[in-house]
Amino acid sequence: MFQIRDPNEDDTDKNHDYITVLSDGGESQPLPRWKTYLYTLQLQAPKPKRIACRFEVPSKPPFYGKEYHGNITREDADQLLSEGDGSYLVRKSERAQNAFTLAIRFDNQTKNFKLYYDGMHYVGEKRFDTVHDLVADGLIHFYVELKAADYIASLSNESNYAESPYHAYTARKKRLERSQKSSSKKLSYNERASVATNGSANGALPQGTEDFDDSLDADVGSYEKKHNFKTQNFMGLHWCDFCANFMWGLIAQGVKCQDCGFEAHKKCSEKVPNDCMPDIKYVKNIFGADLTTVIKARNTPIPVVVDKCIKEIESRGLDAEGLYRIAGLHDEVETIRMSFDKDGENTDISEAKYDDINSLTSVLKLYFRLLPIPLVTFDSYKIILDTMKQDEPRSTRQMTKLREGLAKLPPAHFQTLKFLLSHLLRVTDKKPKNMMGPDNLAIVFAPTLMRSPDADPMQSLMNAQFEQKALETMIVCFRELFSRVSTQQSVDLSHGARKPSIDGRTFDRV
Ligand SMILES: [Zn+2]
Ligand SMILES: [Zn+2]
Repeated sequence: MFQIRDPNEDDTDKNHDYITVLSDGGESQPLPRWKTYLYTLQLQAPKPKRIACRFEVPSKPPFYGKEYHGNITREDADQLLSEGDGSYLVRKSERAQNAFTLAIRFDNQTKNFKLYYDGMHYVGEKRFDTVHDLVADGLIHFYVELKAADYIASLSNESNYAESPYHAYTARKKRLERSQKSSSKKLSYNERASVATNGSANGALPQGTEDFDDSLDADVGSYEKKHNFKTQNFMGLHWCDFCANFMWGLIAQGVKCQDCGFEAHKKCSEKVPNDCMPDIKYVKNIFGADLTTVIKARNTPIPVVVDKCIKEIESRGLDAEGLYRIAGLHDEVETIRMSFDKDGENTDISEAKYDDINSLTSVLKLYFRLLPIPLVTFDSYKIILDTMKQDEPRSTRQMTKLREGLAKLPPAHFQTLKFLLSHLLRVTDKKPKNMMGPDNLAIVFAPTLMRSPDADPMQSLMNAQFEQKALETMIVCFRELFSRVSTQQSVDLSHGARKPSIDGRTFDRV
């Protein structure tokens, strides 16, 4: 594997391929230099030259201007375009009715394209306001691809991701986040436990769980996340964050990740690993956004909505009758949702502002219901439902299967579920007052946490009772299910591995 060399450079330049800057931590790190070869080619590309028709053409379509020549032959068009590269005109198709042909001169040849209009002009996927822009973009592509075909073909293959601009920037961001996390981002389930289990009958820990790991120490920066690439019309000049080369053309020059802003050639984007570092600049909403994306963008171990709502609900005691069963006021729930999307961690959900606790419980349920991928992801769901259907309730086999299902969860989902279940367990401690046991809570929460991948409504309906049973079991057996998984998972994460192992076995994460 070798570094792409810019053909414009000679070897004396070699030592300057990377400039070194000092990062916040005082360490030096290389930043790749942007490569300008393709940019200079774009500048050299022929410019569009409209060959205007000197006559009034009868029944000229209103969306064409002087470039429209009507019913002329291929040979006539060829003749008119002999002015040189970049010349173009539009004529009526010789073969089809109401069809038009765009003829462009390039490299001393006339290229003919079927030209379409639907409010925008296009010959392929890319759409343009004017025929002139379409031709300008086409000429850039013809030229760049003619002059640099081999160079372009090698862009994504020969680029070293470890030396890409994106990698350099995110490495810095990750270091920054790690230093912030160590000071303030550690949470403990016990912080909440001390509030809720005070004086409760079930407050004591079950036997054999003294070493239960209930810290929420998550290395959010290391969580795997796919980029969310979409084709982008870049305004102005842009360079690829993967290969550091110019993204040529006038529109749809490449793709951009909607979550972190990574810009790349389409082909380069296919080589990028799943290490998206979402930015709050791009990920504005919390509700309805992917869980991993949100916590990575905000660098919190669990989503701010879940953290704040549970903290507030526990601080008001968990005595309210029908907690989580009774719905809050619709308008109030909407107001809280919008302020979380707008203010994030600074959202005020204090009792002075919202005295109805049911509005807070409804917001929490709404958050889970709106997740694009449910908290219990589809991979885990299948394993969990299978054991609920097939195995003896709470048998050793079922516990093993449930832990296996939980281990399939992406770390962000796992940590959030663990956090929520530990809270629900404390809610059940107050059952004599709030009348909410694990069975009632399971009925309320199962539809928001689990979603059947089965499209058949009858099947989904039949699954509902098993979903409830699964959730009830997860609440009641919380410590048994999460102790070993969590301990092992946090160890694995800290070493950068992504396969939590349970009892010495390793489960593949998808
Ligand atoms: Zn991304
Ligand atoms: Zn590229």
